[in-house]
Amino acid sequence: MDENEARKLIVEIGKLMYDKGYVTSSDGNISYRLGENLILATPTQVSKGRMSEDMMALTDLDGNALNDKRMSSEIKMHLLIYNMRPDINAVCHAHVPHGTAFAAAGLAIDAPILSEVILTLGCVPLTAYGTPSTPELTDALKPYVEHHNALLMENHGVVAYGKDLWQAFDRLETLEHTAKIAILAKTLGGANNLPKDAIEKLINIREKAGYLTEAARCQACGYLEHSDIKCELDGKSINKPNSNGAKISLSREELIELLAQAANVG
Ligand SMILES: [Zn+2]
Repeated sequence: MDENEARKLIVEIGKLMYDKGYVTSSDGNISYRLGENLILATPTQVSKGRMSEDMMALTDLDGNALNDKRMSSEIKMHLLIYNMRPDINAVCHAHVPHGTAFAAAGLAIDAPILSEVILTLGCVPLTAYGTPSTPELTDALKPYVEHHNALLMENHGVVAYGKDLWQAFDRLETLEHTAKIAILAKTLGGANNLPKDAIEKLINIREKAGYLTEAARCQACGYLEHSDIKCELDGKSINKPNSNGAKISLSREELIELLAQAANVG
């Protein structure tokens, strides 16, 4: 995609994000990898619903400005992802209401409740709070970037990324839709998890179809721990409870079992 097409598409996706209520005021940002060391990014302090093609900032992968347009200080989050993931060419950051509600409540979107989500997105982990635009935030994201395609940032918002702009936006939309369904199901008494063998079948399908690679077996999902699907990328797995100090979510049964074990130890 050439630069003009990318500028047009970023304006279009910004408007979609605004119209769908994924961002308000000047929240959020979108970027695209134009070349090996060249990133096109949305400007700071402009509503994503009211951008024009000439407003976009250009930067290299170290964050050095390459034109006179000011980019958001949150670009550091995007640059971390581009630096860690050569397969990623587009990033969307937004404060989607349902996804951000999970992030504000300290919850990951990692329950196996929707088959399509296991097929196309995988789990969305919760990363610890870090002050926006500082290394605190990027340090908190770092352990998760490699194996996930979208992340929740505690008490802040979400970021989704993909091989092109539409895939990044689609992943953002899937994340938000999943969070909304999970909240609605909770009001109806709670969603039922898919059984272990159904999860394993979905993971095999998604790898055969090329929706997600084997790297997604190493995602931080509690349910992967309980399946026969193993993360084969040695030493790189973060699919271990609390391996990096992040919050983990336990089912009621797991919590009771842990408490019972703790009581027995004493
Ligand atoms: Zn933000």
